[in-house]
Amino acid sequence: MLDLAALKELLASPQKIVITTHHKPDGDAMGSSLGLYNYLIQQGHHARVIAPTDYPDFLSWLPGNEDVIIYTEQPGQSAALIADAALIFCLDFNALSRINEMGALVGESKAYKIMIDHHLEPQDFDDYRHWNINACATAQLIYDFIVNELQHKELINKDVATCLYTGIMTDSASFRLPNTTSAVHRIVAELIDAGAVNWRIHELVYNSATEGRLRFLGHCLANCLEVLPEYNTAIIAVKHEDLEKFDVETGDTEGIVNYALSMASIKLAAFIVARGDKVKLSLRSKGEFPANEICKKYFSGGGHRNAAGGVSSHSLEQVVQEFKLILPEYKKLLLQ
Ligand code: 5GP
Ligand code: MN
Repeated sequence: MLDLAALKELLASPQKIVITTHHKPDGDAMGSSLGLYNYLIQQGHHARVIAPTDYPDFLSWLPGNEDVIIYTEQPGQSAALIADAALIFCLDFNALSRINEMGALVGESKAYKIMIDHHLEPQDFDDYRHWNINACATAQLIYDFIVNELQHKELINKDVATCLYTGIMTDSASFRLPNTTSAVHRIVAELIDAGAVNWRIHELVYNSATEGRLRFLGHCLANCLEVLPEYNTAIIAVKHEDLEKFDVETGDTEGIVNYALSMASIKLAAFIVARGDKVKLSLRSKGEFPANEICKKYFSGGGHRNAAGGVSSHSLEQVVQEFKLILPEYKKLLLQ
């Protein structure tokens, strides 16, 4: 175990540091990781971000992106960096299974592990924890860690601010979710003052679609959407061959579930997609409805109350059927 004083003492001299985040990283995962990276390199640390898998192109403009290593593309170099690290920052996840094969390497490593995260039920693999489920994004916790725990507000430069803004913006669904408190808006204001160009970041993340992605979205809404008014639920189920037909790339499916949730009466939306030998579920809900409970109970997953995910080894048709059979259990909540 490390206390804050010991961690500060360690960070007072240049260290070999690995920063990692969950597989299929999203805006908060990469924004947090690169925000912390851009902070650490200012102090002479040898820091590297290792992403377990690749991530969407709409995040590739983030400052420091050119230095990110993707584990699946460079497993040897990644393993060497993990084995050699004095500190490993684990950001936006709290169970080693979320970093795939890297989990065993990080678990075995002698490095101090620092968990900074906002997901429920953390696993005990860390030496220092900055964890708060009320945070709207891990990027918010990175800001808090740098400014309030390490007392380095002056090191929130334009690059750090840009990355953290991106994390907060994406995980709060553009400042719309209930956890986007006034305190979050104050942090966001500080990030803009530190150089984050808010309108430009929105443009880079949200106005970056290709024609193919837009046509795929059209296909999902026209041909794959099923509305179940008796449960205030909507499902978008996408076959593997559709991913191939529309040449869907990493990130192209991101956010599509929100269109299903945008109908006034819909309380729960599911995007269910067959990827390779697995079926992945993305659930989104409104208000008090616990999407994460369904993912945890039935689909070996988890997440937040209003945004959760899971996986199944059954066929797409089976998973859709299983999902529908769960709804009666939640009927009262769904119709509230
Ligand atoms: P998404 O639907 O965007 O893949 O994920 C939504 C939220 O659920 C994210 O916060 C993500 O961390 C979490 N999540 C997605 N898939 C899984 C999973 O398989 N296991 C767990 N524990 N959380 C997941
Ligand atoms: Mn997050």
